[in-house]
Amino acid sequence: MFTPPDLPYPYNALEPHIDEETMKIHHDKHHAAYVQNLNDALKDFPELAGKEAEELIASLEAIPEEIRTKVRNQGGGHVNHSLFWTIMSPAKSLLKAGDLMESLNKTFGGFETFQEKFSSSAIGRFGSGWAWLVKTDSGLEITDTPNQDNPVSSGKTPILGLDVWEHAYYLKYQNSRADYIKAWWNVVDWPQVERLFKS
Ligand code: MN
Repeated sequence: MFTPPDLPYPYNALEPHIDEETMKIHHDKHHAAYVQNLNDALKDFPELAGKEAEELIASLEAIPEEIRTKVRNQGGGHVNHSLFWTIMSPAKSLLKAGDLMESLNKTFGGFETFQEKFSSSAIGRFGSGWAWLVKTDSGLEITDTPNQDNPVSSGKTPILGLDVWEHAYYLKYQNSRADYIKAWWNVVDWPQVERLFKS
């Protein structure tokens, strides 16, 4: 049985960029619902018990067909949000010189260009979904996915993810996804992203 992880900071810790009410609903209602629905989907499939959620969505073709879509959506929801909470922090951080900075510079031509491209990808994701910075066999890549799909299902390892479902920003930013994205950069936990890059 999966359980939602606790937030690593108080609900109001990311204010003013992400408001307390949004964090409460997002974590306690939305994330909890993905976990509940994932557990419901798996309850008659003891052969899948004991697997990590990441393992389930990394090999969707191995999931019995009758629950594959549920595992994809609800398992993805659980994995995506579990990452999302940890790559944000109230302690404002900057990416320091190091391997990740070097790789971003090499791939995108500079940190600011990377941020612009990532933001464009997040703004351009039509409907609900996520923008990602992923590790691939050949280096770093920006990508985006619909719904709760996770790049791990395509063999890529996310090290940064941005939730652009309206539930992530609508209370504070209404229809302005671009303003939410701009504010979100202030709460990215770069030391954590760097740890994921190196792991
Ligand atoms: Mn969400």
